Amino acid sequence: MKITGVNTALLQANFEWLLIKVVTDEGVIGLGEAHWGFGVKEAIERLELHLIGEDPKNINYLWEKMYRIVAGAAWQGSFICAISGVEIALWDILGKYSGLPIWQLLGGKQRDSIRVLADLHAGASYKPGDGTKVNENNPEEMYSPEAYANHAKDAVERGYDAIKFDIDVPILKERDPINHVLYPAQVDKIVDIVSAVRKQVGRTIDIAIDCHWHYNTSDAIRVAKALEPFDLLWLEDPVRPENIDVIKKVTDSTSTPICTGENLYMRYGFRDLLEKQAVDIIEPDFPRSGGISEMKRIAELAESYYVPFAPHNVGGPIATVAAAHLCSVVPNFLVLEFHADDITWFGSLVKSNAPVIDRGYITLSDEPGLGLELDEDVARAHLKSGERLFE
Ligand SMILES: [Mg+2]
Repeated sequence: MKITGVNTALLQANFEWLLIKVVTDEGVIGLGEAHWGFGVKEAIERLELHLIGEDPKNINYLWEKMYRIVAGAAWQGSFICAISGVEIALWDILGKYSGLPIWQLLGGKQRDSIRVLADLHAGASYKPGDGTKVNENNPEEMYSPEAYANHAKDAVERGYDAIKFDIDVPILKERDPINHVLYPAQVDKIVDIVSAVRKQVGRTIDIAIDCHWHYNTSDAIRVAKALEPFDLLWLEDPVRPENIDVIKKVTDSTSTPICTGENLYMRYGFRDLLEKQAVDIIEPDFPRSGGISEMKRIAELAESYYVPFAPHNVGGPIATVAAAHLCSVVPNFLVLEFHADDITWFGSLVKSNAPVIDRGYITLSDEPGLGLELDEDVARAHLKSGERLFE
């Protein structure tokens, strides 16, 4: 079997979803998805030149070949996203060719249900269930503790037992939009929001809070300590990712678990973080950090430090299900993020035996490869303006 083409389709959802179709001379087709970003589509076009004529079943060799091609390139991040998305499609081909699901090819499941964490952003900016925008122009309403609590209540009623909210939002007027230095009333408001959510959902629901790298070291510690009474699942990216010693300082200063990793690439990006035990939980991103094989290496590296593995995910159903296959296999899986709660066509973009996510969990089928097909009519209806479907 030989690869005859690597084609892309750029969809517009809450983020861009860059779908990949790897075509072979035997009619077996693999689906993949790469993390959004500048130059990722162009990187895939460059990689296609080196993939045509290769046997798609040689996943290890092709990963190394792609990585060595881009090792000296500028925009390496975009190329790693491209490699990640293509590699997912190669696993789909291997599964379809062999008649086995990817989870089986990876050594077999350790769990049947993959627990999903719903990223809800803030108090709803949309009507849960139908995606209608409701209060996005009313920050006072959207960022009130009551709105956060109501959004949490709705998600829990729909079956989620792990939820995530952002607090690095205009909950109170910032004094400086660049340095984001907090004043006491802002910390109080963050505490009020998290307190309202915890009171609403009780202690059987896990709550994660994302800071998107906004704070300086002392503010990050202040927020982490202020949130200790609420027993968060984690506090995500309180400081920027470049300085691991600072992340460790924050982690060591608080009983609130600290999580990072969505903007790190490959096993090399996680090595120092784990060796220094600078973080409590890691959250690599499948279609960004290197693909399925690389995520397995990262998860296993984390497991050797007894660190849970909680993949970040802003992708569509293909990236989400690809992640779920590996999450079913590794022992230290915690939760898998889902960021498309307001995208009503998330489920209909693919055809599968059962809903992709059912009441907060993904159950993988025994179907070959990823176990799903793309509904190209739905994909075509949501192409980014000016884009074409797999041409
Ligand atoms: Mg995040």
